[in-house]
Amino acid sequence: MHRHVRPSSGDPARDVVVVGGGIVGLAVAWHAAAAGLTVVVLDPAPGDGAAHAAAGMLAPVTEADFGEEEALRLHLAGAARWPGFAAALQDATGADVGLRDAGTLTVAYDTDDLAVLRRVLRLHAEHGLGSHELTTADARRCEPLLGPRLAGAAWAPGDHAVDPRATCAALRRAVERSPGCAVVPRAVVGLERDASGRVTGARDGSGRVHRAGAVVVAAGWESGALVAEVPEVRVPTRPVKGQTLRLDAGPDLGLEHVVRGLVQGRPVYVVPRDPVPDGARAGHREIVVGATSEENPDDRRATAGGVFALLRDARALVPGLDEAALVDVTPRARPATPDNLPLVGATDVAGLHVATGHGRNGVLLAPVTADAVVAGLTGTTLPDDVAAALVPARPDRFGPRALPPAAEPRVARHDGPHLAHNPGFGPRAATSTTPATPR
Ligand SMILES: Cc1cc2nc3c(=O)[nH]c(=O)nc-3n(C[C@H](O)[C@H](O)[C@H](O)COP(=O)(O)OP(=O)(O)OC[C@H]3O[C@@H](n4cnc5c(N)ncnc54)[C@H](O)[C@@H]3O)c2cc1C
Repeated sequence: MHRHVRPSSGDPARDVVVVGGGIVGLAVAWHAAAAGLTVVVLDPAPGDGAAHAAAGMLAPVTEADFGEEEALRLHLAGAARWPGFAAALQDATGADVGLRDAGTLTVAYDTDDLAVLRRVLRLHAEHGLGSHELTTADARRCEPLLGPRLAGAAWAPGDHAVDPRATCAALRRAVERSPGCAVVPRAVVGLERDASGRVTGARDGSGRVHRAGAVVVAAGWESGALVAEVPEVRVPTRPVKGQTLRLDAGPDLGLEHVVRGLVQGRPVYVVPRDPVPDGARAGHREIVVGATSEENPDDRRATAGGVFALLRDARALVPGLDEAALVDVTPRARPATPDNLPLVGATDVAGLHVATGHGRNGVLLAPVTADAVVAGLTGTTLPDDVAAALVPARPDRFGPRALPPAAEPRVARHDGPHLAHNPGFGPRAATSTTPATPR
């Protein structure tokens, strides 16, 4: 059931207020604008959340994990939408968001790592994901910069990457160019409701109320606190801190593929961007190395142990990284949920939509999330396969609900098995500053 945007009254109201101008909020705002809605995005620092740290891997295959079939279906739906999304964004703004479709290599450092990799490849085969094992000779032919110690490798041709910083900048431009739309650098401190309980706007830190027919909360890991004042809805987001490094590689380090690796059980990745076309750094590539995963708040502080561990494991895969300049260390927090799935769509409270909790895959899922939220705002229908993939992301699944059972609007929905598989914090929620997860 969709809740349509209702024209708002009074004040220079817009159709939609989006709280949070991260990659998800900006994608929602842009798609809403493309659907003819007027939108204001409120964010004190647009683009400076988790997306600022993200490597930008679009990796439904190499992210696939045991017992996470629903996430896999959603991630595949997300990946399918990226080429069209990037092309449309380029048409709208002229910006190249750095979508690279060169595929992904996964490298096993020792024989134990290879045993794990082969188990994962069997999982991929069960789901027909198109990955396969490579001989070490073939892996080196594919990526000559791989290091000398290599027990085995695998190839995932469908896993790609994009530049999240460039994407956020382009999305912001696209929103700002849309008629009746704006990005306002203000933090939201509360939601406005009318006597019927409908959410009618958002209050910023200066006390100004931004009225709208609908409010979309897309404030990353901080979404839960914002929605806490609406007791009918539970949005259990928490921060999972991650650190990435950015290297400036000169023209000689011609790394072409995303290289993921297991180094004595520790996941690490190396993500190259296209070489800079001109200027003082012509021919240089940015290379992102990541990522730590820590059950810690977003304190924006890099740790010596985190940086050390990332560099140690990355240079085991690609020794040539030693020559690159370390230009940036970026700590930010992923918006995580108890079952590692996002919350997307209309809530049971009129006027309130959510788009958050994307954890390690918010870049991958931004386009499909935008489609889903805008379908809810406009009352349009998604293709059946996309709608089915989004069922596990329903925003009411954590309850409690205030509505009596007889009034429940979501009759067709079922409880996904992921709740049984993963009742608490998932296996990726390691408390460690070592790179315990790949994103
Ligand atoms: C180290 C690291 C590596 C990652 N790598 C990948 C990857 O390779 N691929 C991938 O798909 N994903 C990756 N991710 C995950 C991805 O970055 C996130 O899932 C994604 O950024 C979530 O988008 P978002 O817009 O919901 O949140 P964010 O990007 O965090 O944006 C939230 C925004 O909300 C704003 N905000 C917060 N509170 C308020 C408020 N009260 N009022 C107004 N605005 C507010 C913030 O300022 C921020 O701009 C990575 C994340 C990290 C940390």
